[in-house]
Amino acid sequence: MLLIGSHVSFRSNDQLVGSVKEALSYGSNCFMFYTGAPQNTKRCKLDYDLTLEARNLLYENNVELKNIIIHAPYIINLANNEKEESYRFSINFLKDEINRASMLGVEKIVLHPGSFVNLDLDKGINNVINALNEVITYNQEVKLCLETMAGKGSEICYKLEHIKRIIDGVRYSDKLMVCLDTCHLHDAGYNMASFDEFLKEFDEVIGMDKIGCVHVNDSKNDISSHKDRHENIGYGYVGFDNLINIIYDDKLANVPKILETPYVSSSDGKKQRVYPPYKFEIEMIRKKAFNDNLLNDIRNYYER
Ligand code: FE
Ligand code: FE
Ligand code: ZN
Repeated sequence: MLLIGSHVSFRSNDQLVGSVKEALSYGSNCFMFYTGAPQNTKRCKLDYDLTLEARNLLYENNVELKNIIIHAPYIINLANNEKEESYRFSINFLKDEINRASMLGVEKIVLHPGSFVNLDLDKGINNVINALNEVITYNQEVKLCLETMAGKGSEICYKLEHIKRIIDGVRYSDKLMVCLDTCHLHDAGYNMASFDEFLKEFDEVIGMDKIGCVHVNDSKNDISSHKDRHENIGYGYVGFDNLINIIYDDKLANVPKILETPYVSSSDGKKQRVYPPYKFEIEMIRKKAFNDNLLNDIRNYYER
């Protein structure tokens, strides 16, 4: 069974129940959410009754808890320790996030490893290793998935070798996995048109069993651009056929595939409304047929 879903929201009023309902409305059987806003670290208190209700809803709809993923907020930066206070904050936030994940029953957290800013690559990698050695405990159930990055600015982990160095440096590295992001990989210079070769390289450097999540995104820019601007499926430089080939790869059959493609803006520019593309992109992916009228179909559906 194809595991396909998207990023969904998580609000303080209905929490995981809202996320599950949103995911189901797109026809998903897996999904990912931030435990609050992606760009800040304000987090609400988790309501146990809502968590139970969400679990029932998942069970009724045959969605497995193990295919639900949390994304850590992207302002967490473990690669830079110039400001001791921010570095400490990132470490402590990640510890809390692991606790939140276990309370919700979520087994995987995707994490952007970080940017070294004014330091250098080696220092950045070392900072991540030290931080993870402080965060990860030997008996935690939650796995941290390091995301492959585009290499924008001073981001690390745009090369598999960076991730490999982190895994080698972390004591309880059995708690580490990897999240492949197709837009980031393409932007970093990996050719998604020869995905077999990429997976072979991945297996040699890191090992296939370490793939915990795939972010399926097209890219607004050409290969090696290091820009990190996501595009709707089939509308960018990675292309529909290459993405379908990745999504349906047998070696990734048990790995949740998550869309993080951009919302579509409304046809009348005045109101500035945006609509989630996921229901329609998932449909297109299930049919394996590119819809060249996707954006209009989405607008018509939400404006009807
Ligand atoms: Fe990400
Ligand atoms: Fe991503
Ligand atoms: Zn991205």
